[in-house]
Amino acid sequence: MLREVILIESDQNVAELLKTLINARGHQVTTIDSGKQALNLIQTHHYDLAIVGDELSDIDGIGMIIKLRQESSQLPIVFVSKQWRDGLVYKQLTRDLRVDLIVHRPIKAALFGAQIEDIFVHGKGGAKTHFDMTGADDSVYKTLQANYIKVLPDRLMRLQNAIDLTKQFPQDHATLLEAIRLAHNLKGTAASCGFGILGESAGWLEKALDALKNQQLKLNETAWEEIGLIVKLVQANVESLTQDPTARVDKRAFATIDSTGAAASLAAADNTAPQDNFDVFDASASVRVLVVAQKEALAASGFRPRFANNQAGLNVQVLVCHDRDEALEKANKLTLDAVLIDIQVDAPGPSLNLARDLRNLPGYDSLPVAFLSTSTQEKYVEDSTHAGASLLFESSEKADLIEDAIDYLINARQGGRPRILIVDDDQDFVKIVASALGQEGMLVKSLDDATNIVQSMQNFRPDLVLLDVLMPIVSGFDVCRMIRSQPALADIPIFFLTAQTGLETRLAAFEAGADDYLPKPVARVELLTRVKLRLERSRMLKERADKDVLTGLLSRRAFMQELTELAEESKRNGLIYSISLLDIDHFKSVNDTYGHFAGDRVLATFGQLLRKRFRVEDVRGRWGGEEFVVAFRHISRHTAAGAMQRALEEFCAIEFAGDHDEKFHASFSAGLVSYPEDGETIEDLLKGADNRLYQAKKQGRNRIVFK
Ligand code: GH3
Ligand code: MG
Ligand code: MG
Repeated sequence: MLREVILIESDQNVAELLKTLINARGHQVTTIDSGKQALNLIQTHHYDLAIVGDELSDIDGIGMIIKLRQESSQLPIVFVSKQWRDGLVYKQLTRDLRVDLIVHRPIKAALFGAQIEDIFVHGKGGAKTHFDMTGADDSVYKTLQANYIKVLPDRLMRLQNAIDLTKQFPQDHATLLEAIRLAHNLKGTAASCGFGILGESAGWLEKALDALKNQQLKLNETAWEEIGLIVKLVQANVESLTQDPTARVDKRAFATIDSTGAAASLAAADNTAPQDNFDVFDASASVRVLVVAQKEALAASGFRPRFANNQAGLNVQVLVCHDRDEALEKANKLTLDAVLIDIQVDAPGPSLNLARDLRNLPGYDSLPVAFLSTSTQEKYVEDSTHAGASLLFESSEKADLIEDAIDYLINARQGGRPRILIVDDDQDFVKIVASALGQEGMLVKSLDDATNIVQSMQNFRPDLVLLDVLMPIVSGFDVCRMIRSQPALADIPIFFLTAQTGLETRLAAFEAGADDYLPKPVARVELLTRVKLRLERSRMLKERADKDVLTGLLSRRAFMQELTELAEESKRNGLIYSISLLDIDHFKSVNDTYGHFAGDRVLATFGQLLRKRFRVEDVRGRWGGEEFVVAFRHISRHTAAGAMQRALEEFCAIEFAGDHDEKFHASFSAGLVSYPEDGETIEDLLKGADNRLYQAKKQGRNRIVFK
C-alpha cells in the first residue's frame, strides 16, 4: 500500500538518502526544510508518517516534534537525531511526545527501511498518553479546569470593575493598568486551561485596553463601545463555561452574545462568593509526610491528617497509618518525603527497626525520619541517631508537636526532589504549572511578587526558576538580571514564561540571562520536557562535581562546603556538633590479599552503610582513599560515639567476598571530636579527630576514640 511521508530535514544529503530509501519501498516522500512550511502542509494534507531531522532551517528537531504533536496527536513520527542524548530525553520523546522511532545518524540503510515499514504495519502511534494541557483527559487537568471555572466569574467581575472604574475616572492610569493586567492574566490562564476561545477574546480585550493606554485609541464613546463588545464576548464565554464545562470550545459563544445572560451569571457568582481557595494540589502533593502512630495515641492527640500549605508555602500532605506493614506498603506505593514515628519508651525496638527498614528500601536511603519520644536518655538518642531518625521530645500538646515535627522533617533536606520556584503574579496560572510539576514529584514554591526574590532563593534554594515577564513592580527581565548578578545564584537555570512571544521578547529574555523561554499558554509536555531536561543536565553536572562515584558520598570539597554551613549555623545558634574521621583497618592488606575489586566493594558497602545510617541532617563524605568523614548535627561526641559503635558492629558483621570468592570481614577505626569542647574552628576539630583516629589505630584498631 502506498503511503505518504513528509520528510522534514534541512541536511540535503540526509534528506536525499532517506528519500531514496523510502521511495525504494514504493512510498511517496515530500521533503521540506522549514518547520513552518511543514506545519502548513500538515494542516492541509494527510500524511501517514513524519520524519523529523535534528536541525531545521527555523527550529530544532525536538521543538518541531512538540509542534507536530500539538497539530496532530495521531501522526506517527520518526526522529532522525544527529547525536546521542541521555535516557531522559529518549523517555520524553517516546513516552510524552509519542515518537515512534528515534534513529541516529549515520543511518543504517537496510534497517531504516524495515523500521519504517514496521511503523506502517503495526502503527505504533495511537493515542497512548495526552501530551498537551488542551485536550488532555487526565483527572488532574479536569480538576484544574473545573476549579478554574469556579473562579472565572470572580475574575471576570474584577476585570469588569477595573474597566468600569477606568471609564469613570479616565485620568486614573493605575486602574487602566490593572484592567490590562487582569485581561492579560485571563488570556494566559484560560488558554493554558484549554479554554482557547475565552483566552483569545481576553487577548483582544488586552489589546484594546493597551491601545487605550498608548493613546492609539481615543478615550471616547466609540472606544468604550468596542471594549464593551469584547467584554460581552468574554462574559458570554465565561457564562457558557460556568454553565456547561464541556462546552469549553463551544463556538456558539461567538454567535449568541446575550448581555442579560452574562448579567445573570455575574449575579450568580455574587451569591456563591469568589472561591479563591480552590485546591488543585490533592493529586499532586509537593511534600508527602507519613505519620506512624497507634490509633489511640493519635486520637488522644487530636491530630488530623490534612492537606495544606505550610508556612514556607509548600503543599504538604500528611498521611497516617498505624502499623509497620502499612507504613512499608505506603512507602513502596507512594513517594514519601519524610516519616514521623511515635516511639514507645518501654519498647522502642519495633520503631527502630521500622526506621532502618524504611531507609533500606530502594530510593529511601536519605529519607528524613523522626521519632516522637518522652525520654531524653542518651542511649535512646544513640539508638535513633544510628537508625537514622531525629528525636523530638514530647511537649504538652502532642498535636502541636506533630506539626512541629512535620515542619522539622520538611526542612531537614528534601532528599533530592527538584525544587522549582515560580514567580508569576497570576495565581491561577501558577496553580496550573505547580500542579503539572508537582505531579512529577517536584517541589514547587511560588512567589507573586519578585521584590524579595533573592531572599526567597537563598531560603528555598531552587534548582530552577520559572519567571513571568510581565509582572507588577519589576519586570521579569530585570529580576533575571538581578539574579544573575548574584554570584551564588548565577548558575541556577531560569526559564521565562510569558504570553508575549515576539522575537524581541525572546531576544530580551536571553539577553537578560535566561536559559530558556516558554510561551504561554504552556503546553504541559513542553513545560515538563524542557524543565526535566534542564534539571537533569544540572543535576548531572553537580553530581559529577559533588559525589564520589564509588561510595555515593560527598566528595571532600562538597563535604567541606556543607560542614562550613553546619559550623556557621551551629555557632550562630549556640549549638554543638561533632565530627568523626573514619579509616578502614588494614585496607592495604585487603587489597593485597583479596584483590583491588574486593577492596572497592568494601568501600562501596561502607559508603552505603554510612548513607543509610545516621540522620539526614548529618553530613557524610569520602575524605579520600579509605578514609571517611561524618559530621553529626547538634549532638555530642558521646552520643555520636554510641551511634557509631552500632554502625561499627554492623560493618564488622558484613561478610565480603574476595576476587576468588574467599570470605573475609573488615573493620574501621575512628576519632571523634565535638564543637566547641575540642576546638573552635573546623581545622582544629579535624586535627583533633585525626589525632584520636591515630590513637584508635595505636590502641589496636576496630574502635572509636572520642576522649
Ligand atoms: P591502617 O589500618 O593503618 O589504616 O592500614 P591501611 O592499610 O588501611 O592504611 P594505608 O594508608 O597504608 O593503606 C590504604 C590503602 O588503601 C592504600 C591504597 O592502595 C588503598 N586505596 C585507596 N583508595 C582506594 C580505592 O579507591 N580502592 C581500593 N581498592 N583501594 C584503595
Ligand atoms: Mg588510611
Ligand atoms: Mg586504613
